Amino acid sequence: MTETPPFSPSDDFVAQANAGAELYAAAKDDRLAFWAEQAKRLHWHTPFQQVLDWSDAPVAKWFVGGELNVAYNCVDRHVAEGRGDQVAIHWEGEPGDSRDLTYSDLLAEVSRAANTFTELGLVSGDRVAIYMPMVPEAIVSMLACARLGLTHSVVFAGFSSSALRSRIDDAGAKLIVTTDGQWRRGSAAPLKESVDEAVKGATSIEHVLVVKRTDNDVQWTEGRDHWWHDTVGSASPEHEAQAFDSEHPLFILYTSGTTGTPKGIIHTAGGYLTQTAYTHHYVFDHKRGKDVYWCTADIGWVTGHSYIVYGPLANGASQVVYEGTPNSPDEHRHWNIVEKYGVTIYYTAPTLVRTFMKWGRQIPDAHDLSSIRVLGSVGEPINPEAWRWFRDVIGAGSAPIVDTWWQTETGAIMVSPLPGVIATKPGSAQTPLPGISAAIVDDNGKKLGPGGTGYLVLEEPWPSMLRGIWGDMERYKDTYWSRYANEGWYFAGDGARFDDDGDLWVLGRVDDVMNISGHRISTAEVESALVSHPGVAEAAVVGAADETTGQGIVAFVILRGGVENTGDALIAELKAQVSKEISPIAKPRQITVVPELPKTRSGKIMRRLLRDVAEGRDLGDTSTLVDPAVFDAISAVRPR
Ligand code: ATP
Ligand code: MG
Repeated sequence: MTETPPFSPSDDFVAQANAGAELYAAAKDDRLAFWAEQAKRLHWHTPFQQVLDWSDAPVAKWFVGGELNVAYNCVDRHVAEGRGDQVAIHWEGEPGDSRDLTYSDLLAEVSRAANTFTELGLVSGDRVAIYMPMVPEAIVSMLACARLGLTHSVVFAGFSSSALRSRIDDAGAKLIVTTDGQWRRGSAAPLKESVDEAVKGATSIEHVLVVKRTDNDVQWTEGRDHWWHDTVGSASPEHEAQAFDSEHPLFILYTSGTTGTPKGIIHTAGGYLTQTAYTHHYVFDHKRGKDVYWCTADIGWVTGHSYIVYGPLANGASQVVYEGTPNSPDEHRHWNIVEKYGVTIYYTAPTLVRTFMKWGRQIPDAHDLSSIRVLGSVGEPINPEAWRWFRDVIGAGSAPIVDTWWQTETGAIMVSPLPGVIATKPGSAQTPLPGISAAIVDDNGKKLGPGGTGYLVLEEPWPSMLRGIWGDMERYKDTYWSRYANEGWYFAGDGARFDDDGDLWVLGRVDDVMNISGHRISTAEVESALVSHPGVAEAAVVGAADETTGQGIVAFVILRGGVENTGDALIAELKAQVSKEISPIAKPRQITVVPELPKTRSGKIMRRLLRDVAEGRDLGDTSTLVDPAVFDAISAVRPR
C-alpha cells in the first residue's frame, strides 16, 4: 500500500473543533474519571456510585448504581430544555414523500407507542422484534422500547422470514412491529407476508403491530394483529418515563454473519448511551443546532442503532433519515438530499463510496455539496483510492474523513482520527479514541510496535462493550476472551498493522489475512491494489488452500462500466499491478472477472463463501446474503 503524507486539518477547522489534544491527555491521565466525565452528557435520575465494576470479568458493569431512562435522554430532555421545536428527523421517503419530526413530535409519538406497548401487556424485560424499513415509526418503536425497559431486537427488513424466525425464537420476542410493505426501487414489496410466515408456530409471539406504509394487501389474524394507526394513533401522547438501572438490557443485535452464524450481541443502557453520545459528539465534530447530520446506514445494523438512533438523538441532533436505495429514482438521489437539507456531516460505508465511483464523478459534480464539512466511513477497510475520491469529490478536497473502526460488539466507535486534532491518512483508522486502549499483538501476546502486523485487541473494558451473547455466555467467553485469557484482552477477530508512523491499519478479519509461503498478506491490501487499476471497480480476494504455498491468492474482480474484458491480457496486467504495488509474493494465483460479488445486506463481501467457491466446496450459510443467486453467475466463471 502506498503511504501518502497525512492531510492536516485547516486552521479554520481546528479553531472550531469540538476536540483538542487535551482530550487524549485527560483520558490518559485518569481513564475512569474521564469516562465519568463523559457520562455527564446524560441525565441520570439517580447518580452512579462507581464508574466500573470489573470484578465479574468479562462481564462489565458501568456506572454502577446509576439509573436513567434512555428515551428520556434522547427525547424528553431536549423538549424540557427548550428544543422542542427543533427538527430531530428530516425523513425522506423513497417515493418522494417527506416528513419532518421535531423533538416535540417525537416525544408525542414515542409516548403514544409506549402507551400502546403497555396496553398490549408488555413489561420491562420483555423482548420486542422490530422488522421494518427506514420509516420514522421504526425509530419511534426502538425508543418506546427503551422508554419501557423492553429489550428490542431489530431485524433488517431485507432478511428472509426464516432469518427473522430464528431471531424471534432466539430472543423469545413477544411483540413484533412491522409494516404492510416496503418501497424498493420504485415498487412496493410485501413485508407483513414474511412476518406471517415467520410467526407461524412461533410460540413466543403474542402480538403483531403493523404500520401502513405501502397499502399492500395483507392477511389479518384477529386478536394478534393490530394496525399502528388504530392503536398508537389513538393512544395518549402523555407518558412518564421511569428510570432503569444503568445495566438494564437495552437491545440485542445479531452480527452480520460474515464469519459464521450470527451472534445475538447484548448491550445495556448507561454505558452504551454514554459512549455513543461521546463518540458522536467528537468523532463527527457535531454541533447541536448547527449541523445537519446524515448517516446512511439501516437501523438493522449497529451503525443505525448507535449513529442514527442513540448517539445523535442523545446529542439533540437534526438528522436526515432516508428510506430507500441510493439510485431511486436515479443515481443523483443522495446528492439531491444533501442539497435539499444542507447536510454537513455524511457518514457512509466504503462499498457505497466505490459504487459512487463506478457511477462516475459527473453525478456528484452536478450538485452543490459545499455544505459538507465532515465525512465518515465504516464497515470495512476503505481503500486509499476510494478514500481520496471521497475526500476530493464529495468533500471538496478539504473535508476530513473519519475512518471509524468498531463492531456490533464494541457498540460505539473505538478507533478513528478525531477531526481537527489528527491529520488524516488515506486508508488508515489511525488511532484509538481517548478512553480506549487498543494494541496489535502477535500469537504469543507480545505487543507490536511500528511496522508490526498482528491481531487487534482491546486492553481495557469500555462503557459500550457488549455484555454477552444472548443465551450463550460460553460462546461469549470463548469467542472474545479465550485467545488472550492470561492477559485479559478482548480479541476483536481483526488483523491490523502499525505503519512506520505508528498509525493503525485494519486489515479485515483474521480469517481474511492470508498466509502465502509464510508471508502474511491481507486480502484488503491485494484488493486495494487491484482496485487501483483503472479498469477495476471492485475486487474480492480470498486465500484458497494450495499444496505448495499453503494458501494461494484467488481474486474475483468486477470491471468498471465500459471497460472491455481482454481476457488473458487484462489478467496479466492485473497480476503485474499487484506485484508492483505490494510484492510478487502477493500476485494472485487466479483472477476471475465476475458480474457481481456476494455481499451481506450491510454491503460486506462474504469472503468465506468465495473461499468455498475457490476451494470447490458446497456453500455454507447464505442466509444473510442480499442475493444468493449471484453464485450462479460466479459459478459459471468459477476458477478451475
Ligand atoms: P460477524 O461478526 O457475524 O462475522 P461482522 O463482523 O461483519 O459479522 P459487524 O459487527 O457489523 O459484523 O462488523 C464489524 C467488523 O467490520 C469489524 O470487525 C471489521 O472487520 C469491520 N470494520 C468495521 N469498520 C471498519 C473500519 N473502519 N475499517 C476496517 N474494518 C472495519
Ligand atoms: Mg464480527
